Amino acid sequence: MDQNFDTVAIHAGQDFDPTTGAVIPPIYQTSTFVQDGIGGLRGGYEYGRAGNPTRDSLQTLLAALEGGKHALSFSSGLAAEDSLLRAALTPGDHIVVGNDVYGGTHRLIEKVHGPWGIANTVVDMSDLAAVEQAIRPGETKLLWVETPSNPMMKISDIAALAELGHRHGLTVVVDNTFASPALQQPLALGADVVVHSTTKYLGGHSDVIGGALILNDDELAEKAKFLQFAAGPVSAPFDAWLTIRGIKTLAVRMQRHCENAQAIAEHLAGHPSLDAVYYPGLPGHPGHDLAARQMRGFGGMLSLAFAGGEQAARTFAESTELFQLAESLGGVESLVNYPSEMTHASVRGTELEVPVNVVRLSVGIEDAADLIADLDRALARL
Ligand SMILES: *Cc1c(COP(=O)(O)O)cnc(C)c1O
Repeated sequence: MDQNFDTVAIHAGQDFDPTTGAVIPPIYQTSTFVQDGIGGLRGGYEYGRAGNPTRDSLQTLLAALEGGKHALSFSSGLAAEDSLLRAALTPGDHIVVGNDVYGGTHRLIEKVHGPWGIANTVVDMSDLAAVEQAIRPGETKLLWVETPSNPMMKISDIAALAELGHRHGLTVVVDNTFASPALQQPLALGADVVVHSTTKYLGGHSDVIGGALILNDDELAEKAKFLQFAAGPVSAPFDAWLTIRGIKTLAVRMQRHCENAQAIAEHLAGHPSLDAVYYPGLPGHPGHDLAARQMRGFGGMLSLAFAGGEQAARTFAESTELFQLAESLGGVESLVNYPSEMTHASVRGTELEVPVNVVRLSVGIEDAADLIADLDRALARL
């Protein structure tokens, strides 16, 4: 039966427990599985690093959400990214990376994979000519795209980048953490691999760290799956279960995240204390039309640039109450973050540096009027 996204998010891979009829399958909190005689595995399960039914059920769900053939679940978003890079590349290869990717992604590529022989060039992914120029024939193997980007909310054209990348024989990767599959499905737009920090919108409740890869290519999936087993960055059964639990409400949560962020962006646009409100749902945002084409909603993330510079940004970030000062994003509760010293401290002094007058908001699913009142109170203190 062909089902729509909201239905798939609740049911894919989530059949009731055949033994007891439990609507919610149990958490298989076990490290190993009894064998009926040597090699006599029940359901193919042998040892928890190699496979676990709770992890499998999350992987089935993730593949269905992104419309992919294979999904692999990891202990964190960066563990997923690390496994993908090691599966796809060998020393001597070069990759082209967006100039506003997640700071930890840049740190992983530069500080961990760099010394192991993977070179990278950082470019503006919304400038197709610059991307093409950065490709080194024979050496470049992979294009790393993040859209909407963090924290400047830049929108890159996934279909155009996939076409360009494929013309040069590259694997095109999209970090879909900010949009979530409820709003954007990169594989359908031509990308080869989707990466997630499931810690964010998929988990949705700020109570679990996790990551995922979703892809169609059998050979690359097999290599990444081998790393899951051979290097061991797997998600724990309870973490996988929490993520499944979060995903069931993804569609309704994203709807409210989008509504609240839109209301806040419209309320704050043009405020005298702000130089800019970066939100793709505002018609004046340079990526608005593209986002309207490739996304089903503009998301729950927005950033503010303060006219009063660094001091105003800091004061504001420390003045909100409902918006709690913390790293991370995508939970039901609203968070405020000062990127240049928190999430993006590792990219200071690089091309990915975030301006010191920028504050990022992860808009939760509380009542919009309460959130706006909180922001107005903080603005009044400037
Ligand atoms: C948080 C984040 C990551 C890293 O994920 P972890 O689960 O923290 O390892 C990668 N990409 C983006 C866009 C993120 O926000």
